[in-house]
Amino acid sequence: MIVTPLNVKKLAIVHYPDPVLKRVAEPIDAFDESLSALVERMTVLMDEDDGVGLAAPQVGLSRRLFIVRPPEDGAQVTAYVNPQFLEMEGAADAVEGCLSLPGVNVTKRRATKVVLEAQDLTGKTFRLEGKDLLARIWQHEMDHLDGRLLLDNMSDSDQIANRRAVKQMEERYRG
Ligand SMILES: [Zn+2]
Repeated sequence: MIVTPLNVKKLAIVHYPDPVLKRVAEPIDAFDESLSALVERMTVLMDEDDGVGLAAPQVGLSRRLFIVRPPEDGAQVTAYVNPQFLEMEGAADAVEGCLSLPGVNVTKRRATKVVLEAQDLTGKTFRLEGKDLLARIWQHEMDHLDGRLLLDNMSDSDQIANRRAVKQMEERYRG
C-alpha cells in the first residue's frame, strides 16, 4: 500500500532540492485502491498548478508512476504505471518547465516519436505511440522516475537564465 485514505490528502507537490526528486523510483506491484486514490490526488495537484504531467516522486513518493493530461480540450488524464520506452525516434528542441521547479525554463532536446509500454491502474499492460508534445511530456516524466531534473545538463545560457530561480528554491528549502 502506497497511501492510505487518511494520508493521501496530505500529499503536496515537492520542490527542488528535495532529495526525493534525485532518487531512482521503485516499481509498483500493488494495484489496489490506494493506487487509484494516489492518482486522484495527483490529478488534483496537477490541475491546481495547470500542469500537463506529474510524476509520483513530485509528491514525495519514489514510485514508478506518472500521470499526463495533454493540453487539449477535453483531454483525459492517463496514468502510466511502471512505464518503459520501447522505441524512440527523432530529436527536437523546446522549452520545458516543471511543477517542482517554479520559475525555471530549460531548452531540452527530446525524441519526437516514442513507443511506450506501461500498466494501467488494474495492472493491465498497454502500449501507446506518442508524438511531439505527448512524447516530450512522457520523456520529462520518465526523467522524474529516474531521478533526473531539468537542471541536469543545462546549457550555459540556461544556467545563467535560471540561476536566480534555483537560488530562491534552495533558500526556501533551507527555510
Ligand atoms: Zn517535472
